[in-house]
Amino acid sequence: MSLKKTAWSQRGDDAYVVLIGHTVACALCRVKASCPRAARLAKAWREARR
Ligand SMILES: [Zn+2]
Repeated sequence: MSLKKTAWSQRGDDAYVVLIGHTVACALCRVKASCPRAARLAKAWREARR
């Protein structure tokens, strides 16, 4: 994964890193179970990209 900053959004970038960091650390996400925390982080990421 690249942490290089892109033009679209610093905030979106940060939210993406948080989301990925969560999915690798979370037991639910690692087994592809539905995770309310990941759903919230993904939503925050989408909103930050706008
Ligand atoms: Zn999770």
